[in-house]
Amino acid sequence: MGKKVVILGGGVIGMFSAYYLSKAGHSVTVLDKQSIGKSSTGNAGMIVPSHVIPLAAPGMIAKGVRWMFNSKSPFYVKPRWSSELFSWGWNFYRSANQNHVDSSTSALRDISLLSKKLYQDLSSESNDFEYDEKGLLMLFQSEKVGHEEREAAQIASDLGLEVEIFDRSGLETLNYGPRTNASGAVLYKSDAHLQPNKLMAFLKSELDWMEVKFIEISNCRNIEMSQGKIVQVVTDTGTYQADEFVIAAGAWSKELAKLADESLKLLPGKGYSFTIPKMENAPSIPTILCEGKVAVTSFQDQIRFGGTMEITHVKDQKINTNRVRGIVDTINNFYPEMQIEIPKTKEIWMGYRPCSPTGLPCISRSTKYSNLVYATGHGMMGLSLGPATGFLVERILSEQDHALIPSFRLK
Ligand SMILES: Cc1cc2nc3c(=O)[nH]c(=O)nc-3n(C[C@H](O)[C@H](O)[C@H](O)COP(=O)(O)OP(=O)(O)OC[C@H]3O[C@@H](n4cnc5c(N)ncnc54)[C@H](O)[C@@H]3O)c2cc1C
Repeated sequence: MGKKVVILGGGVIGMFSAYYLSKAGHSVTVLDKQSIGKSSTGNAGMIVPSHVIPLAAPGMIAKGVRWMFNSKSPFYVKPRWSSELFSWGWNFYRSANQNHVDSSTSALRDISLLSKKLYQDLSSESNDFEYDEKGLLMLFQSEKVGHEEREAAQIASDLGLEVEIFDRSGLETLNYGPRTNASGAVLYKSDAHLQPNKLMAFLKSELDWMEVKFIEISNCRNIEMSQGKIVQVVTDTGTYQADEFVIAAGAWSKELAKLADESLKLLPGKGYSFTIPKMENAPSIPTILCEGKVAVTSFQDQIRFGGTMEITHVKDQKINTNRVRGIVDTINNFYPEMQIEIPKTKEIWMGYRPCSPTGLPCISRSTKYSNLVYATGHGMMGLSLGPATGFLVERILSEQDHALIPSFRLK
């Protein structure tokens, strides 16, 4: 028998949860604080089985500290006196070790490959969102970064992913497009990409057709519990009861968990992107410019550049122009003939990556309430892991097992 499900959050994770739950016969309502399908639109659209190493890994603390003193750096922790920041930082520090990496890589590979398979299935029915499998090119300039990238490539290759390494002259055989100042690259053939704005529009129209209800709320005031269960969600615009509740509100999930008296360690990793008309000689393969951690994705008619990760809080919605300048400098440094200009503020998209201190998502039943599921903490891989997350949320709610569920439990 289908259950009545309320999902809090209509980003890519909430939408894919709604998709698989509705497909399985559950009756779904999605509540969001902004117009549905608006979130998750400006990201780089990369589907990344290559990303098998979690953010919390050896070396990341030293790198983070070094980058903190550079206003254009790709990674930054906004310093502030806050218990949530200390708690997150302490947990990140405890996770940034080899044991954690070793125990996470296979699970990350498997959930990514499941997601890619689901994207393949979806796009074979109707590819309205420009799904394409061109791989991911990690371009680097310095020997130091090249060494780190080759090490990461070895780990991915040991896990069975198809990887190829190029030196500068090898790059010329790739038919890549623009001239670059890179000294080499790693090509992950496992990876794919799509157009995120089109994906979100596609999901919205599919879900409308499947009769999923969407409700815009202005605020979630309270979550009421009784006898180990969530009873209802109280918002400014109404009260919603259900058999099951899913919290999939990205970086805001922590505030909702707090209303349910549960602690979720999560901070937003703020980032920016801008999109311009596609030029001649645009990169033919989605690319990460490694030294500046800038993502470059060519769509049908446009090209999108995205980057920077500023660990902050959800009230910080400021566009930091110095960091946008850092993105532009990286692009012009790698592609000397492109000469990209700093975009106007209104042309910049800002988004939050919901970052857990382990670098792993949480796709799990609550430890306190038998009818609450969390689907959040996907950091820089929310679009990539959207379908697999929705699929696993459906398995959990339908009381079905899946080998991947234990790897992403709430800790
Ligand atoms: C510059 C940049 C580039 C990126 N590139 C990629 C990429 O190439 N590939 C990739 O996989 N990922 C990428 N990401 C990360 C990806 O965008 C995120 O992981 C993803 O958007 C997270 O999805 P989500 O649904 O969890 O959260 P969100 O997209 O943030 O959605 C959460 C939703 O919850 C709603 N909400 C908030 N509060 C409440 C409330 N109280 N009640 C109800 N609803 C609420 C919000 O309005 C929002 O719609 C990138 C991110 C950035 C910033």
